[in-house]
Order: sequence, then C-alpha cells, then structure tokens
Amino acid sequence: MSTHNRTRISGIGVSTGTAHGPAVFVVPAAGFNADESSSTDPEADGQRIREVLQAVADGLRARAEGASDSAKEILEATAGLATDRGLIRGVDKELKKGSGVTRAVHDAVEKFAEKLRKLGGYMAERVTDLYDIRDRAISRLLGLPEPGLPELAEPSVLIAVDLAPAETATLDPDQVRGIITSAGGPTSHTAILAAQLGIPAVVKASEIYDVVSEGDTVALDGGAGEVIVAPLDDDLTELAERAARREAALAGSEGRGMTRDGYPIKLLANIGTADDARKAASFDLEGSGLFRTEFLFLGRDDAPSVEEQTATYTEVLKAFGDRRVVVRTLDAGADKPLRFADLGEEENPALGRRGLRLSMVREDLLDAQLQALANANAATEADLWVMAPMVATVDEARWFADKARGFGLERVGVMVETPAAAIRSEQVLSEVDFASIGTNDLSQYTMAADRMQGELADLLSPWQPAVMAMVQATCIGGGKADKHIGVCGEAGGDPLMALVLVGLGVTSLSMAPTKVTAVRAALKLHDHATCRAIAAQALAAPTAEKAREAALAMADPIVKDLL
Ligand code: PEP
Ligand code: MG
Repeated sequence: MSTHNRTRISGIGVSTGTAHGPAVFVVPAAGFNADESSSTDPEADGQRIREVLQAVADGLRARAEGASDSAKEILEATAGLATDRGLIRGVDKELKKGSGVTRAVHDAVEKFAEKLRKLGGYMAERVTDLYDIRDRAISRLLGLPEPGLPELAEPSVLIAVDLAPAETATLDPDQVRGIITSAGGPTSHTAILAAQLGIPAVVKASEIYDVVSEGDTVALDGGAGEVIVAPLDDDLTELAERAARREAALAGSEGRGMTRDGYPIKLLANIGTADDARKAASFDLEGSGLFRTEFLFLGRDDAPSVEEQTATYTEVLKAFGDRRVVVRTLDAGADKPLRFADLGEEENPALGRRGLRLSMVREDLLDAQLQALANANAATEADLWVMAPMVATVDEARWFADKARGFGLERVGVMVETPAAAIRSEQVLSEVDFASIGTNDLSQYTMAADRMQGELADLLSPWQPAVMAMVQATCIGGGKADKHIGVCGEAGGDPLMALVLVGLGVTSLSMAPTKVTAVRAALKLHDHATCRAIAAQALAAPTAEKAREAALAMADPIVKDLL
C-alpha cells in the first residue's frame, strides 16, 4: 500500500527504458556505534576485525563464483581491498589510540579513502568499494545482517544512495526492473553497468528518499531521467505509450550504421573483458571501438605475462570474428596506479604520468602488451586496430606508432583526450592511421573539471560548446590529414549527440552495446547534411543546455522517443 501521494521528481537518465514496480530499498549501512567503549585490548580487537574483514572478503569471493567475468573482477577487486595491508595497519593504529572496534574500522577506512581520493580517477572511484567493505564489516561487528541488496520476492525497482560496483555487477535483470539512486553521476559505475545490463536507471534523483517508502509503486524513465512515485493509471499508460513508441522507433534498426542517405557510420561496442567481448559480439554491431585493456592489469602484484595477455587478446579478437577490434594499450598510471609500476605519489594525478606517459617510462610493459597483441592478431581473423591513450604531442604519437609498427601491427592510432591533441590533430594524425576521441577525458581537460566529481556534471557535459568545438577541431585536422576519426567516450551512446558528432565529421561511434540500436535508429532518420546542420546549430549555442535544445528542435521528433 502506498504511503505517498503521486510525486514526480527528476534525475539524470543513464540507462534507457521505462519500468515500474514496488520500491525496494538497498539495506542501509548501520554506521559505527557511538556508544561503544574504548578498546582495552587492541591486539585481540585487531584480531577480531581481521577475522571480520576476512569474512567480508570471503563473502564477496563466494558471490564472485558463478558471476559473469566483469562482475567477478569487480567482486574480487573489492574482496582484495578488504584485506589490504594498509587498511589493516590503519585499523591497528586506531585501536591503539583507544577507539572501539566499529569506530576503528570507520576511521581507518576514512583515512584510507582520503588517500584514494587524492589519487583521483580510478582510485577515487574505489572509495565506493571501500565504503561497501566498511559497512559490511561494521554490520558484522554489530551482529547485524550485511547491508546491500536484499533478496527480491518479486521484480522490483531498487532504491539506493549509490550502488557499490559489487552490488551492481551481480544484479539480476529479471528481478531488477529499474534502479534509482539519489547520488552518483553519468559516469559512475551504477550508470555504466546498468546500461550494460540493459536495466533502466536514473541517478542523482536527490529527493528520492523524501518521496518514496519501501513497497510504494515507483515508475521511471531511464532515458528522460524521470521518476514518478505512486503513479496514476494515466502515468503508467503514458510510460507504456512512450515505451511502445520507442519500440516502434527501434523496430527495423539493424545492420550497418549509416545516415539516411547511406553515409556509413560504424557502430561499435566498448568492452573491458573477454566476457564483455563475447556478450557484445552477440549484438548486431560492427565490432569493438574500445577495449579497455587496463582491467587485465589493475589490482595485481605483477604484470600479466605475454602468454597470459596473448590468451586474453586472442579470446577477445576471436569473439568478434573478422570484425574490427580497437584495442587501447594500457591506460594506467597516476589515477589507476599499478602496484608493479609505481612511479611515486603525484600532486595532480589526472595531470601526471598516466596513459601513454606511463608506457614511455615503463617501455617493458608496453612492449609485452604489443607483443601479445601481435601474437593474438596472427592467431585470429579480426581486424585489429591499436591505439594509445592520453596522447598530447606529435612526438608521443610518432613514438607510439613506430613502436607498434615495429611489432608488425598495421593499424595504429591515438586517442584524442587532451585539448592539445585536438587542436593539433592534423599534425598528430599525420603520424598515425586514425584517432578515437575519448569524450570523457576530453571534457574533463577542456573544462578543467574532474570527471569523478558528480557536482560538476553540468560542466562535464559533451554538449558544452567548448567540448564540441574540440571535437570539431579534431575532425577538421583529421580531414586534412585524411584520417578516420571515431568517438569512444560516453557521448557516442546518446542518439541525439551522435547526430552532432557525425555532423562534425566523426565516422565511427563506440558505446555500451545496449545503446547501439537507438543510435542506429537515430542516424537512419537523418541525412548527413542534416547532421551537419544540427551540429552547426548546437555549436553556435551559448550554453550546453541551449545546444541540446537546438539539436532536439532540429532532429526528427522520433529521436525524443529514443533518448
Ligand atoms: C574517455 O576518456 O572518453 C575514454 C573513452 O576513456 P576512459 O573513459 O576509459 O578514460
Ligand atoms: Mg580516457
């Protein structure tokens, strides 16, 4: 029975589709016990916490068994964090200072989280995992059930502040009709994984906890970012109509991507693991435009061997048959530190020795990776393209191209993620065969706004005219150098933004595989000249919001149903 009147709120739609069902809250964390007494035996208490952390790690590992590859990696990485020596040392320190057990866990985690936050990027993202561990450990210490996803009795809509990656990765799309979070942003784990699983999701619906109670019917539109608590029959009818219109708009969206007048636009999948590759390959798409290989390297004590890498790359390439696979070489460094390639602490990790800069210092890592790629290429039929992340100069592009070609790799490119590479793209591209624009980082560096900071989402929007101008500059330079330009950031999966990108001169788009159908349908409705006109209008707009409005006003009205 609903305890609330009909209420409509909005957030950011991050995974399209409409859904409704009973609201189920993700079990909240207990928080530390403010009344507990100080530790009188830090040694024994330390031992007890170690056992609890080990139990938390074991629980996560048990869930990893039987989970998909990508879920497994996330769960195992979180489990590894639970028994991290640094964390345990921190706990001992807090106990010696006299904290009780739950307080010690809480404070040690907070200090550890602060360190990760300072590192920024990937490591900052791990803070969510760390808090997940803290909450599980504290609940165990208090003798309470672990927080997180409850068993679902019927298909439901999950409500959470934010989902820990470990939680999102193990969601069953048959049981979870939709996800609504009060926090998070468009590039959060919740968003990326929900889109990958095809579960409609709205993030940053900040008022959700004020307007919904457990068991209320809640409806959502994961494209429009709309949430309705206690919806009326009319609301459900409207949502169903929207879903039907969307389905109709998507019907017949198959085959190669192209504009209405037949201008080919390759539609590709972003992947991170061999399991992703197999899943993506089963979709109607033309290959992978971004294989984030760093997943193979993170959270390990030593580098994967050439043999191990060869085996994984071979699996990935095989999955796609003779389709294109664009492999990005190791994108690690300051923001995604590798234990075996530690270059020391940096003040500003996002501006530090990351991406290709790390590979230039640790050539051995890049050599092993390129050798493994060459091996996999020789063993399969795939059309292998290889590109370097975070390139800023012509020299870097040349250095990478020489090296990759030295291993017999024929299609060599760079990612355009820095304004430096965008505005000098003709020169940069003259050294390589292609470029792929990473709009996530390009937005971050163009707008000087940390991509991990949810509050800066507006600045980070690819609709920012300055970001679109960077894409335009890249395409103009690419045109002069007669080189192919693709996009592999999140922007490529937005059907409306896709029209703008194509209008600016992009010829391939890579995205979560579930987004391909909508993007293909949007492209099919427009001639290339119309895409160019839409791009010109968007670029001429004074703000990101007006740019989007202008594009929407010019696009075929059906595009609205695809968002
Ligand atoms: C990007 O920056 O847009 C990109 C695709 O790379 P990542 O998100 O992995 O940094
Ligand atoms: Mg990037």
